[in-house]
Amino acid sequence: MDTATAPPSLNPTLAKLREAWNTRRPDYAQRMDDLARLRAAFKQRLSSLIDAMSADFGRRSAHESRLTDGMTVLHEIDLVRSNLRRWMRPRARQADWIFLPASAEIRYQALGVVGIIAPWNYPVNLALIPLVSAIGAGNHVMLKPSEFTPRTSQVLAELLAEVFPSDRVATVLGDAGVAAEFAALPFDHLLFTGSTPVGRKVMAAAAPNLTPVTLELGGKSPAILAPGYPIAVAAARIASGKLLNAGQTCIAPDYVLLRPQERAPFIAAFRDYVTRHYPNLRESSDYTSIINARQYTRLQALVDEAARRGAQVLTLPDAAAHDIDARVFAPTLVLDAPDDCRLMQDEIFGPILPIVTVESVDAAIAYVNARPRPLALYHFDNDRGRTRHVLDSCVAGGVSVNDCIYHNAQSELPFGGVGPSGMGHYHGHHGFLTFSKQLPVFRQTRWTSLSLLRPPYRGLADFITRFLTR
Ligand code: NAD
Repeated sequence: MDTATAPPSLNPTLAKLREAWNTRRPDYAQRMDDLARLRAAFKQRLSSLIDAMSADFGRRSAHESRLTDGMTVLHEIDLVRSNLRRWMRPRARQADWIFLPASAEIRYQALGVVGIIAPWNYPVNLALIPLVSAIGAGNHVMLKPSEFTPRTSQVLAELLAEVFPSDRVATVLGDAGVAAEFAALPFDHLLFTGSTPVGRKVMAAAAPNLTPVTLELGGKSPAILAPGYPIAVAAARIASGKLLNAGQTCIAPDYVLLRPQERAPFIAAFRDYVTRHYPNLRESSDYTSIINARQYTRLQALVDEAARRGAQVLTLPDAAAHDIDARVFAPTLVLDAPDDCRLMQDEIFGPILPIVTVESVDAAIAYVNARPRPLALYHFDNDRGRTRHVLDSCVAGGVSVNDCIYHNAQSELPFGGVGPSGMGHYHGHHGFLTFSKQLPVFRQTRWTSLSLLRPPYRGLADFITRFLTR
């Protein structure tokens, strides 16, 4: 690949990774050993990573960090290690009958050097899970973690430098300028996780190199509450998905669609969830802070604009729960926000839940379909036929029925958006395939029936041609 267009500052790092990969491609034993050493070092540093994330956020639930950034990474490493031999094995495929006795197969080749750009909201998970996939598929990796979690990114860089030689995995630290340079490098594949606007820039930067991209983006993920579904159960599950990491989750339910008569019971149940699970929210070590002042101000501005435009704002348990200095943004429900305010246009990415009233599930479907395709869709319903109707009617990155978030945690399911919420997939086998070239191979035999199909096309060749187009 031509590296002439790459910016000079990061180009030597990529060249070193590529040269090492060209000299010695990681085989099965190497990959297994790399992942085993990564697992051991990761376990050893998990507490430091959790502390670093707490320090970067100001306050971050250590239990949530352990689960969402710790368990998930360990699970991914274990999943790849226990399946890798099978995933790497070439798959025999039937050759088409007119070519018999020839044979066909698919082989799984590493691509080369993979670039990974990660955001700040799950700074360990979203850096290391793609890295584990890419290493499992036999690639070398260049990683750019987020500048908004500098302590975590530093520990990640140290961890990776301890586990991998610098010509197999390299970490680049820096701001958006560095990230833009990074995205313009001629990688063999680039996986970006972040916002939709930056995703557009990443794809444009990759285009001159024809670098294939996987874009894991964001958007507004709706939750639909269907008639008859227990409202308290739905409210608790939506609250749990919304308040995880204080709403700073790409697949957090962004807003809820329900019928007017369900509004009051939903609000009561949501309030009940907040008071039961965060008895002293302002001080609760279980409730995560907003990452920085800019994001806090952005969230406040979303609510203020909606309120100015006539929306009703309910802060839970009450307005005193906000703590601007500690960036504790209390759970907030917003009713009757006008459609064209920023709250209803932008991805919220914080603990604010607009409640949109609709008359029916079909009206909810129409509302969802009139907007950009979401990263996640949540449908709460005990009616199987109606659930199927929703699944058949909406296009989304992924769906959880009767809960939030958890489709993302299934090893056998691909994870990724659609349209403005992203392109491509990873997790488990899907990640292995994303970072592999599926090499189709056709193997001819000593005798081939195709020798009967050569010019001059007379006699048998003429007959076969006619027979094949009968
Ligand atoms: P962001 O897009 O601002 O930044 C993400 C990364 O992009 C950072 O590392 C940053 O340095 C880098 N970057 C900035 N400018 C760049 C440029 N011009 N070219 C290349 N890279 C550049 O996103 P964020 O604020 O860190 O994260 C929040 C967003 O990420 C939300 O929209 C959320 O939905 C999305 N997200 C998506 C997923 C998913 O899996 N689909 C997961 C987490 C977050």
